[in-house]
Amino acid sequence: MSKLFVISGSSGVGKGTVIKEFLAKHPEFKLSISCTTRGKREGEVDGINYFFLTKEEFESSVHNGEFLEWAEFSGNFYGTKKSFIEKCLQNGEKLILEIDTKGALNVKKIMPDAQLIFILPPSFEELEARLRGRHTETEEAIQKRLASIKLEIENSKHFDYKVVNDKVENAVEQLEKILI
Ligand code: 5GP
Repeated sequence: MSKLFVISGSSGVGKGTVIKEFLAKHPEFKLSISCTTRGKREGEVDGINYFFLTKEEFESSVHNGEFLEWAEFSGNFYGTKKSFIEKCLQNGEKLILEIDTKGALNVKKIMPDAQLIFILPPSFEELEARLRGRHTETEEAIQKRLASIKLEIENSKHFDYKVVNDKVENAVEQLEKILI
């Protein structure tokens, strides 16, 4: 039974909400904390949502081989530290990584037992509306994210499971079937 699950989904698909609901019901699962060079959004806390690094700090960790995987996404760097994952798995924790599809496929190469799950929006229009509804990003940033969605859907062909987030409770139920 795999202890490592990787969840990806297009921006604005609501994967954060689905994962949060799932974790609230299943506290035996832990969410991995990634490193990023992007700016903090309102309400985000260093060491809880992400480890927020400068570009220089991130590059130095890349140089020192500290990342299990890392990727550039929408002009920022994101990465999963090897030490974080190893410590959790050694402690017998069941771990969820919420990372982009490129990162997910890289994790699968290194850890073939990892199960990859892709969360889909009910439709592209719905996704665009959700993305704009967040009001957290500039138009340029939104355009970049929309462009990356195509690539993510392409990459998701290689995933083990797909979950449609039409309603949060339905998506959580589907996740439960896969993870438990
Ligand atoms: P956001 O800026 O909205 O928090 O995240 C943007 C994208 O980066 C999302 O698709 C998210 O899943 C991905 N991401 C977050 N952490 C990591 C990571 O450690 N590695 C990779 N490859 N992608 C990540």
